[in-house]
Amino acid sequence: MSEAGRYDLLFESVRIGPVTAPNRFYQVPHCTGMGYARPQTLAAMRGMKAEGGWGVVCTEYCSIDQSSDDTPYPYATIWDEDDVRNLSLMADAVHEHGALAGLELWHGGSYVSNLLTRAPTLGVRSMPSRTDPVQSMPMDRSDIRALRASHRAAALRARDAGFDVVYVYPTHGYLLAEFLSRSLNTRTDEYGGSLENRARLVRELIEETCEAVGDRCAVAVRMSADGHGENHLDADEARDLIGMLGPLPDLWDLVVAEYDDEMGSSRFTREGALEESVAYVRALTGKPVVSVGRFTSPDTMLSQVRRGVVDFVGAARPSIADPFLPTKVREGRGEDIRECIGCNICYAGNTRGAPIRCTQNPTMGEEWRRGWHPERIDAAGEGTVLIVGAGPAGLEAAHVLGRRGFTVSLADKAGEPGGRVTRESRLPGLAEWARVRDYRLGQFTRLPNVSLYLGSEMSAADVAEFGADHVLIATGARWRRDGTGRWHQAPVPSLDVAGVLTPDDIMEGTVADGRIVLFDDDHYYMGPVLAEQLVASGARVTYVTTEGRAGSWSHATQELVPTQRRLIALGVEIVVSKAVSGFDGEAATLDCVYSDGQSRIAADAIVLVTSREPEDSLYHALKRDRALTGTLHRIGDCGQPSIIAAAVYSGHKAGRELGPGTAPPSLRDRVVVVPA
Ligand code: ADP
Ligand code: SF4
Repeated sequence: MSEAGRYDLLFESVRIGPVTAPNRFYQVPHCTGMGYARPQTLAAMRGMKAEGGWGVVCTEYCSIDQSSDDTPYPYATIWDEDDVRNLSLMADAVHEHGALAGLELWHGGSYVSNLLTRAPTLGVRSMPSRTDPVQSMPMDRSDIRALRASHRAAALRARDAGFDVVYVYPTHGYLLAEFLSRSLNTRTDEYGGSLENRARLVRELIEETCEAVGDRCAVAVRMSADGHGENHLDADEARDLIGMLGPLPDLWDLVVAEYDDEMGSSRFTREGALEESVAYVRALTGKPVVSVGRFTSPDTMLSQVRRGVVDFVGAARPSIADPFLPTKVREGRGEDIRECIGCNICYAGNTRGAPIRCTQNPTMGEEWRRGWHPERIDAAGEGTVLIVGAGPAGLEAAHVLGRRGFTVSLADKAGEPGGRVTRESRLPGLAEWARVRDYRLGQFTRLPNVSLYLGSEMSAADVAEFGADHVLIATGARWRRDGTGRWHQAPVPSLDVAGVLTPDDIMEGTVADGRIVLFDDDHYYMGPVLAEQLVASGARVTYVTTEGRAGSWSHATQELVPTQRRLIALGVEIVVSKAVSGFDGEAATLDCVYSDGQSRIAADAIVLVTSREPEDSLYHALKRDRALTGTLHRIGDCGQPSIIAAAVYSGHKAGRELGPGTAPPSLRDRVVVVPA
């Protein structure tokens, strides 16, 4: 059997109720940070997935009416005819490539705060919202009747917008999960008490959705296969529930109780981690099943289908990192798959109220605004380019420029490519991050016009002598040793002493053991990951942060809880709301961030994870000397130290826009157009 034929099973069409999916690749609902506010951006992005071969492409959580408003998070809405028109852009874009479009009807219940609509939030009983000082209004029978009518009307609008699959969504802690919960649902009417009663509303909504749109649309239920936790709906009850409702919908879309597992980052969760929890559902219900697992290996996908775990290979992140994953599998081009690294930066868009970004796929979210296609770059180029620095920015720029036809020389002083990605991928839990490097190196094997020179430190004179038509400086950034960061906004002399280490020191092989105080004023992964590394090399670590929790920004990537758990398990002492302000070789001085209080803590060395300084001396020397005949640009961390996704994006953009007339205007997506 040919390499391509090996995966034929994944390309069989599958019937889902009244509709047929062209293959088994299924983009499950996932948030995008675009929601109702950016319909054209969203349509182009979802359409790209269909073009890339995903057989079913779904929306994100889509509110049925104004009583379910997740502001400030960018959720979708299907409240009215305007939404129908906006969402039909997406359905059309998906249909254009022969895929099915799915829409996830959603009601947030007590979870949301309705900050935009100011409608009372609704709950199975009165409960505090997830974040705000707001409690829900307990729903009485007339509220339940109104909700059912509203859900039905939303399903009809979804159908009218052209969607083929319509979801009922009783999980993830939202309204319907409240009804299912043993502890939250304290009702004494027919919607409370026994499992059958608690499931009544879910059953009604499934039946009413089938009745309303079932002639044209498949009805899917997104449900946690192992319940919602002991106090809510335990695994046995979840099984009973799925058994009870099993035959009603046309498809089961399965998740698990622990959201940190369901969309766990690669630091904490392996590929295919849901299998054990979801495997029973297919046989129990006799209906097609989809589930996720951050699948990037076609063999894992094939194995799950072959063994009858799922009918559809579900994906959110793998479809974000590579919208063309199915096409590449079909064409036997597995080595071209841009594998997700499991960093969860894509999720951070929604958490921060901004459109999605992806570390591996810089075109994600730019399909409409900039007209970027993940697999095609139309503008050809010619001439020579020298890129100094083969970190993520330099590698991506070389990749794009190579594809455009430039003759590219990529030089790095290190003996191996990848820059920070290579260094960081050796830290605990970050091995998959090396995929950022490996994907690009893999592409170079097909680009004879891209040459990589390692062990090649370039001075300004070297660069000038090279004589390239274009020079891109991608020399990265180094962690600061002087304490400057968010808290100390200028160098701290009492920190600029012997025994002060930086993350670069540790990554470059300095072994720190004994008593280590690690000061994290960066608040993302580096502090916690280095703490793990230090413990592994025998240190006793005290982790000090100006914030209230270790790695506080990683709430955005859904890593906050597992981060605390891991540090606690490793015996790392976590000291919050303190800044390290001095070190004398025996003890670190800690300042309280709220008062004049000071304390000392014994330490043999301290590690400062504060901020990074651009390595831009080469760039400035070249600018100052004016010895170049061609163009000069700086990209990535050398210009603006940031996350890896930003460096890749910067390299990609520079690669696309090098040369005359190649920078299209950046469009602005608007929902409300005021008539002239
Ligand atoms: P980015 O994230 O912006 O891509 P990195 O820090 O990951 O930046 O990578 C920068 C790369 O630049 C490193 O691999 C480093 O070895 C290389 N580099 C820095 N200065 C020079 C120089 N003068 N000549 C050649 N390579 C350099
Ligand atoms: Fe995967 Fe990271 Fe891209 Fe998300 S941002 S799809 S986790 S590579």
